[in-house]
Amino acid sequence: MTINDLLAIIKDYNPDEVDIVKKAYEYANEMHKGQYRQSGEPYINHPLNVAHILAEMHADRDTVCAGLLHDVIEDTNATKEDIADIFNKDIANLVDGVTKLAKISFSTKEEQNLANTRKIITGITSDVRIIIIKLADRLHNMRTLEYKNEFKQKENALETMEIFVPLAYYIGAYRIKSELEDLSLRYLKPDMYKQIEERKQKIEIDSSECLAEMLTKIKRMLDDRNIPNEIKVRTKNIYGIYKRLNEGNKICDIHDLLALKIMVDEVENCYKTLYLVHKEYHPINDKFKDYITNPKTNMYSSLHTTVFGPDDRLVQTQIRTFDMDRIASFGLTAYWDINKGEARNVMQKDLKDKYQFFNSLTEMNAMFGDNQQFVSQVKNELFANKVYVYTVSGDIIELPKGSTPIDFAYKIHTDIGNTMVAAVVNNEYVPINYELKNKDRVRIITDELSFGPRGDWLDIAKTSYAKKKIREFNKK
Ligand code: MN
Repeated sequence: MTINDLLAIIKDYNPDEVDIVKKAYEYANEMHKGQYRQSGEPYINHPLNVAHILAEMHADRDTVCAGLLHDVIEDTNATKEDIADIFNKDIANLVDGVTKLAKISFSTKEEQNLANTRKIITGITSDVRIIIIKLADRLHNMRTLEYKNEFKQKENALETMEIFVPLAYYIGAYRIKSELEDLSLRYLKPDMYKQIEERKQKIEIDSSECLAEMLTKIKRMLDDRNIPNEIKVRTKNIYGIYKRLNEGNKICDIHDLLALKIMVDEVENCYKTLYLVHKEYHPINDKFKDYITNPKTNMYSSLHTTVFGPDDRLVQTQIRTFDMDRIASFGLTAYWDINKGEARNVMQKDLKDKYQFFNSLTEMNAMFGDNQQFVSQVKNELFANKVYVYTVSGDIIELPKGSTPIDFAYKIHTDIGNTMVAAVVNNEYVPINYELKNKDRVRIITDELSFGPRGDWLDIAKTSYAKKKIREFNKK
């Protein structure tokens, strides 16, 4: 990876900006002169690789420059003002934001650090490009983790799982997320990683014929009907398999370990394709998911259906449009490609309107005066594991692990929370402090004559949204 490789990519999608990128490289190279990475190579190779990861996403000029400059405030004499003078204010803000984000810590107890952590957390929503640059930075550091000692490796891997994997998830950058997960697992549980990797390869070889046969057949059906398409085999990442094994599944029971990804030109053709697939291969009813009508909270859209393929092998098929596929792989970072020059504004607007992460953060910021409470709530709610449960109509609701029917009720609608008298999970009445589990079907019994939420619900509810609504009701 050299500066010329980087410039070649920039030239390809943004030819007018080659000069400023070159200038950013020369400045960073000069500033980091004499610094070396643990691997022994010149330090500049790191920012160069980070910029390369960003350029592959077709990031805008300022983002690529900030990628090259991202460590100069932290590691050299350069200041934010220098960068603003030599380049521009936006680049300076991005580099400054990335520098601050490096100091984020959930384990701090001192008030000064807590206040600082809060500022960083709320600041990351001001320009989502800061998160993207930081993710590229972390990705390259994880890719080159072999040069650190074992303690540092484990520490970095844990931090990646705790902070950066959720951030990648929230902006829908699945490709980065899954690479970060696998790199982390490789250092956290090396034996387990190897073992799963080998078994996965074996399954891939075993199923290759079956998948190839399906792929050819489906492709022919789509071609015959003049539906523009592309079909790929997608495999679950190692960490995804690890998680399933940990939940008590056997590797042969993981029905989406291998999937066929079918991409077509438009939404209507997704459903047409679904019909064709089901006509040819028998579907399993309760494994069908419509994330097109019902996107995930990070805007992931696709149809998922698991069918009996050749030899009665279960195969998941994912059907979506080409644009949905871009969003599915790259999340918000796909906007650079889709929205071109408008990308920055559309990103920021959509982050606010469509992505749940932003709303939750804003909500918590408004709600907690106390820094300690704010930081611990963010950690518990945004950076903890999730559970996914169903409404009676089959919608999927995402909640932090440990959530109760109260959280569920308020998430559906404030009135439902306020008039709830009982909860039914999988056809059985459960106590109000029942901890929801994945795939629970939850029905809330309401009564308009109820007295409203009880005071002790405050201690039972997990999400800040539910707590807020309960407080509001009891104030009235
Ligand atoms: Mn860095």
